Amino acid sequence: MYRTHNCGELRMSDVGQEVTLSGWVQVGRDFGALTFVDLRDRYGITQLVFDSEDDAALCEQARKLGREFVITASGLVRERTNKNANRSTGDIEIEVKSMSILNSSKVPPFTIEEETDGGDDLRMKYRYLDLRRRPLQSNIIFRSKLALETRKFLDSQNFVEVETPFLIKSTPEGARDFVVPSRMNQGEFYALPQSPQTFKQILMVGGFDRYFQIVKCFRDEDLRADRQPEFTQIDCEMAFVTQEEVLATFEGLTKHLFKHTLGVDLPDFPHMTYDEAMRRYGIDKPDVRFDMELTDLNDVAQNKGFAIFDSAELVVGICAKGQAGYSRKQLDALTKWVKRPQIGAKGLVYVKCNEDGTFKSSVDKFYSQEDLKAWADKFGAEAGDLLLVLSGEEEKTRKQMGELRLEMGRELNLMTPGVFKPLWVVDFPLLEWDEDAERFHAMHHPFTSPKKADMERMLNGDHETMKALRADAYDLVINGSEIGGGSIRIHDRALQEKNFKLLGFTQEEAEEQFGFLMGAFEYGAPPHGGIAFGFDRLCAVMNGQSSIRDFIAFPKNNQGRDMMIDAPSGVAKEQLDELGLALNLKEKA
Ligand code: ASP
Repeated sequence: MYRTHNCGELRMSDVGQEVTLSGWVQVGRDFGALTFVDLRDRYGITQLVFDSEDDAALCEQARKLGREFVITASGLVRERTNKNANRSTGDIEIEVKSMSILNSSKVPPFTIEEETDGGDDLRMKYRYLDLRRRPLQSNIIFRSKLALETRKFLDSQNFVEVETPFLIKSTPEGARDFVVPSRMNQGEFYALPQSPQTFKQILMVGGFDRYFQIVKCFRDEDLRADRQPEFTQIDCEMAFVTQEEVLATFEGLTKHLFKHTLGVDLPDFPHMTYDEAMRRYGIDKPDVRFDMELTDLNDVAQNKGFAIFDSAELVVGICAKGQAGYSRKQLDALTKWVKRPQIGAKGLVYVKCNEDGTFKSSVDKFYSQEDLKAWADKFGAEAGDLLLVLSGEEEKTRKQMGELRLEMGRELNLMTPGVFKPLWVVDFPLLEWDEDAERFHAMHHPFTSPKKADMERMLNGDHETMKALRADAYDLVINGSEIGGGSIRIHDRALQEKNFKLLGFTQEEAEEQFGFLMGAFEYGAPPHGGIAFGFDRLCAVMNGQSSIRDFIAFPKNNQGRDMMIDAPSGVAKEQLDELGLALNLKEKA
């Protein structure tokens, strides 16, 4: 028997018991007569003691144990004289009577502790070592619990878990597809699904009424800390539902998950329209843990002789409470920050609301004290506050200000960890006009339904009408992260055809790629709608972390590589022959 107990469960009540533990050597400490070894497994760490007066040979063997050796040890549980309050097993230790080495280990390339000295790629190459670390173990265990609670809740609501295929047809859904060559149909390719979107809609036509799946999705996009080429969604679809019913169901799921994994009771989620989110926060996924809302200043800042503001479509600001003490250096740094290409502002205007009721600004030449007081009043600013102002083209400037608001939130520690502020953002535009390509993109995806009131306008309206169409589309946002998104779908062939047309599909292209779906709509498709949650991101946000990588057992790096198995990689010529393919790689630009 390898173990009678695990390394995290022995307590004072077990003192006097003979036990056997197995695990990894975290660290050894040699104090001459006594040698201590911390033995670790998934459940915790237990201290082993080897006494050279009891058994000199055994103690000698213990001294030679290296980090990450796998051992099994038997002995007596006893009370520690020197207790460790930071460890659940810290009141006891094992007086070892026998020990054997089950496997030795090379010296690991990084420390296997809470904090590690290993860089990302090294940790991914030796993922099996990284996975032994407590933070990763608890992340992966959290993920498992979250999946289980998801299934429990959705099952209680009559959802049926249905698997959909991974080898499908390449269809544009926003991102680039990963493609897989077919051996049996040479020259043809499958694509890996960006999401099960069309299949779940077909399941509604197939009468399943409520579907869910915890499912891998594949998107060949450039990667960031919160993106992976393969990621997991909680994917759902419901028939005979309105938007309100979808939101209520998934608000219920979210509350259940927070309650049953974190013990957090979430209040009801506020609803905010897309327009309102953009106006107040400059972003469609606002972090509402802090205020600092955007305030329009056109009426008080224009026509005072400052040409830059006068010619701007929008003058907009935020008020940082109590920050009038910002130094020249800090303001210069902020100005530099907004001028970075990622943000793209031309400059930053500030106004300090001094304690004595006067104002000091970077535009004193153009504005009197009364003018600046009028600005401050717009924000409801008080003495000691700092106003930051940007100007320019409406949409761009709002977004830039939204970014600056977030940066100030970070800088001033306003994004309190452990506080969760969920909200629904609703009424997204149906279409997004792409100036450069001079075409519409679907804001969510091509299957999203316009609002009922907009359907007629969509079928008959002009170009400007199309830009203003609103969709029954919604996002769940928590602490500035988009956790989920979905929509009520089009279930009518004519409307779906019209949408494809608006998106630039010819009739043949639409038929070729989505004929099956439009065909299904002709056989009694029920009204339906759904949503998908980003499961990896939900794990990270619930744990106050920004990288989804540490919630995925085997993630890929920024180049899309699996560092452990070394993928992607070449394939043998025979494999290519079988597929009827030959490589003809273009020179990299
Ligand atoms: N399939 C969509 C997505 O992956 C979600 C949905 O509309 O249900 O974003």
